[in-house]
Amino acid sequence: MDEQGMMSGIVVIGGGQAAAQLVDEVRRLDADVPLSLYTQETLLPYQRPPLSKQLLRGEHDLDWLLYRPAEFYRARNVRVVTGARVAAIHRDRRELELADGSRVPYGRLALATGCRVRRLAVPGGEHVHYIRSHADTGVITAQLGAARRVVVVGGGFIGLETAASLRQGGVAVTLLVQQSRVLEQLAAPEISACLAGLQAAHGVAVHCGVTVSAVERDSSGTLQVLTSDGGAYPADLVVAGIGVTPCSELAEAAGLRVDNGIEVDEHALTSDPDIVAAGDCTSHPSPLLARRLRLETVHNAVEQARVAAATLCGEPRTYAQIPWVWSDQFDCRFQGVGYAPGYDSTVLRGDPGSGRFSVFYFAGPRPLAMHAVNAPREFAAARCLFNRQLAPSRAQVEDPGWDLVTAAANLVDRSAGIRFDRGWRNFPRGGSVAAA
Ligand code: NAP
Repeated sequence: MDEQGMMSGIVVIGGGQAAAQLVDEVRRLDADVPLSLYTQETLLPYQRPPLSKQLLRGEHDLDWLLYRPAEFYRARNVRVVTGARVAAIHRDRRELELADGSRVPYGRLALATGCRVRRLAVPGGEHVHYIRSHADTGVITAQLGAARRVVVVGGGFIGLETAASLRQGGVAVTLLVQQSRVLEQLAAPEISACLAGLQAAHGVAVHCGVTVSAVERDSSGTLQVLTSDGGAYPADLVVAGIGVTPCSELAEAAGLRVDNGIEVDEHALTSDPDIVAAGDCTSHPSPLLARRLRLETVHNAVEQARVAAATLCGEPRTYAQIPWVWSDQFDCRFQGVGYAPGYDSTVLRGDPGSGRFSVFYFAGPRPLAMHAVNAPREFAAARCLFNRQLAPSRAQVEDPGWDLVTAAANLVDRSAGIRFDRGWRNFPRGGSVAAA
């Protein structure tokens, strides 16, 4: 960093996983560089995955959501400014302009601006709630006391997790899915059938292939969610999870390259050598998957933020990881490694009827991904193999006698202490700022 950079230090914009990880990692690499974080949220950086699960079920308070308590930042001389919306980046003078008109100089900048929800663009859409921030979940939980019937729109992870959490809270839940099955874009029919069946078994009314056309409030004050096939679903509360779009406007207005998110290279560097970006808001090249990707996962936020921090601190590393995700719904754990979209065939292992099975995805002979339902040891083993570019062949996974866990165990360095008999929790994750 040049002299001006040294004086102005590193500024991080964002308040989620990637921002929290960036701060952690920069401070680990450089104890002295001036470091500050600006977030428009009213809270210190916090976790989003629990918003549709533990927080919606009322199991924890907001302190529990925080990645780090205030003391952590104080002790490390990190200036965290909450409630601060950045209105513009003036790259010519390396300066941020905040919404209140104040100016913040930076030496190097990290963008971890995340995503915002896609909204239902239908008449009455103003009645619909979304889950992206702690405040969103707070508004929903505040209304739950008076709500008996909730309609959830969207068959992705937010829709499924929200439906499960609300049902666990005792309300009647209807899940409306526009696609022909839940997780249609992401997962094989066996996974969709299992997760939809799980919802139904817990009393959620699941309707697939229905498109919401309007939300109306009738004379009694009850909402009616209308669908284009003539359906009408009464509700006291409507929550939608219909996807997100990257918050890349700041970057775009500053002239950075943007295409389905802020474009970064394998070092998390944007088209400006003084600006990195990490997390949901970026599209990055994946050398392992041989394509550009924009990922909306905790794993991506953590690992890309580490790489971005290393770049900021002058110790560039390459971001090359196989993605993975998890989702908890009722007593079921879904886990996935790799990137399934684009698959042309699958191999099922185990019996979906038993509630414990996995699906391997292939494009031609090339293994793309593996999804596991209540099979954490198999998931950990598959992740181990995919990470080493040793994903199993179709012949292997088609052979019921081939043992995935043993195959992985035989490959790994035992000195690393990996034991698959304890499943994914035992998998070395390299110490992110928060466990999933
Ligand atoms: P998502 O996973 O992208 O799923 C949204 C679903 O809504 C998709 O099936 C989408 O279909 C559908 N949809 C789009 N427009 C619609 C419309 N107008 N009406 C009805 N359905 C519509 O997004 P999400 O569930 O909202 O979650 C938001 C983000 O949080 C995602 O990135 C998700 O991965 C992440 N998240 C992750 C987890 C986890 O990993 N456990 C949990 C919660 C959230 P198309 O695909 O055809 O557009």
